[in-house]
Amino acid sequence: MSAPGPVGAGRTIRFQHLWTPAGWLSPGVLVLDAAGRVVSVGSRLEPGQVAQESWRGYAVPGMPNTHSHAFQRALAGRTEAGSPESEDNLWTWRHAMYRLAGRIGPAHLEAIAAFAYMEMLEHGFTRVAEFHYLHHAPGGQRYAERGEMSLRLAAAAGASGIGLMVLPTLYAHAGIGLPPAEQQLRFVHREVSEFARLLQALEQPLAQAGAQLGVALHSLRAVAPAELREALAAAAGLRRPAPLHIHVSETRHEVAEVEAGLGARPVQWLLDQVGLDHRWTLVHATHLSESERRGLAASGAVASLCPMTEAMLGDGLFPLVAYQQEGGIWAIGTDSHYASGVAAELRMLECGQRLAHARRNVLADPTAGDARALRSGERLFALALAGSRSFGESGAALAPGHRADLVLLDPDSPALVGHDTTTALDAWLLSGAADAVQQVMSAGVWVVKDGRHVARASLTRAYARALHELFG
Ligand SMILES: [Zn+2]
Repeated sequence: MSAPGPVGAGRTIRFQHLWTPAGWLSPGVLVLDAAGRVVSVGSRLEPGQVAQESWRGYAVPGMPNTHSHAFQRALAGRTEAGSPESEDNLWTWRHAMYRLAGRIGPAHLEAIAAFAYMEMLEHGFTRVAEFHYLHHAPGGQRYAERGEMSLRLAAAAGASGIGLMVLPTLYAHAGIGLPPAEQQLRFVHREVSEFARLLQALEQPLAQAGAQLGVALHSLRAVAPAELREALAAAAGLRRPAPLHIHVSETRHEVAEVEAGLGARPVQWLLDQVGLDHRWTLVHATHLSESERRGLAASGAVASLCPMTEAMLGDGLFPLVAYQQEGGIWAIGTDSHYASGVAAELRMLECGQRLAHARRNVLADPTAGDARALRSGERLFALALAGSRSFGESGAALAPGHRADLVLLDPDSPALVGHDTTTALDAWLLSGAADAVQQVMSAGVWVVKDGRHVARASLTRAYARALHELFG
């Protein structure tokens, strides 16, 4: 945390309305330093303080995207035909994903990721955690530069302006006790020491690129217990503490396989054998027993929910209402990028829970003594934002010392016309056909203006070129 600087020391921006965890400031005044970090947040200009910019509308913190496989953006819309052979689910979708993954080269990955990150920014995400396992060339040959594909992601983040955390992912097996399949060879590190060398090789170049380094274990199916422990030891040896992410309990099949192979359901196994705490993010965690749900909620770990992907893959519904009542922390991710927006993901999340419980406003908390805690939009937004601890920081956003990441909602957009601060987030997140995002700031830089990313034309051309090469 940096101490607030003197009045007028940085760039001062005045907003008609600015959202903070404690309530809306109308107006809100933000002071930034030259590095794009927040110096102070206030409700008025101090004497002698001049605002360099002044904006109408509703400014809210940028949302962190806690789970992305950027390359899968190229697959969206290509897997929606029923399979004649079997029931369609994540496992049948995965065949199509492997076919695509087998063809993507470094330049393709960079173009697809930059485009996916641009779309995320245009729809309110300002940081992304990239769960990255496309390490090697097709067939498993090593690139001359060990971190080639990770560094392509950093280049894509640089081109788009999004804040990036790369999570190099340890992937070793096709299932418990099984060797990797042919199509998985480019994901695989046969020795954990080799994976540890990748982490070490990435520390400096990612820091130079302004990106964060975390560590992911693909799943308890793909990483054996001894390998998981070795990878955690490698993570502990990094110069900066690395957030830890893992896919878990996305399907019933996965739960049954882990229970048969390791003697416990996946989340229970992690609770008992590894110990979960605030450093951990569990991606999906869809199928939980009651004791797993309570254990996860009490652990301080984040559940990364990916509502659109989980719906499109037919995974099931996370027990959000009970988990929330137990104080569990959660966040959202776009995973396979069926949709890439804050509103789309939170709307799907809320709709799924309403359908499951046959009631409305399922997250409203009448005991909080705060009218905002009764509003679904406010609740969804504030609770998902708290999951930014997936990036290894506290949940605070737009607070001194943090990245200046924010989203300005257009008060003249059809979704927001006639609203005020009471209902602005309900209207943005839960109504309307068009996204109300007008401007987006990432680390102090406006990267979306008038609803369009500043590099939209060139990033879209590069994306189209990559897709023609891959599918043309
Ligand atoms: Zn995933």
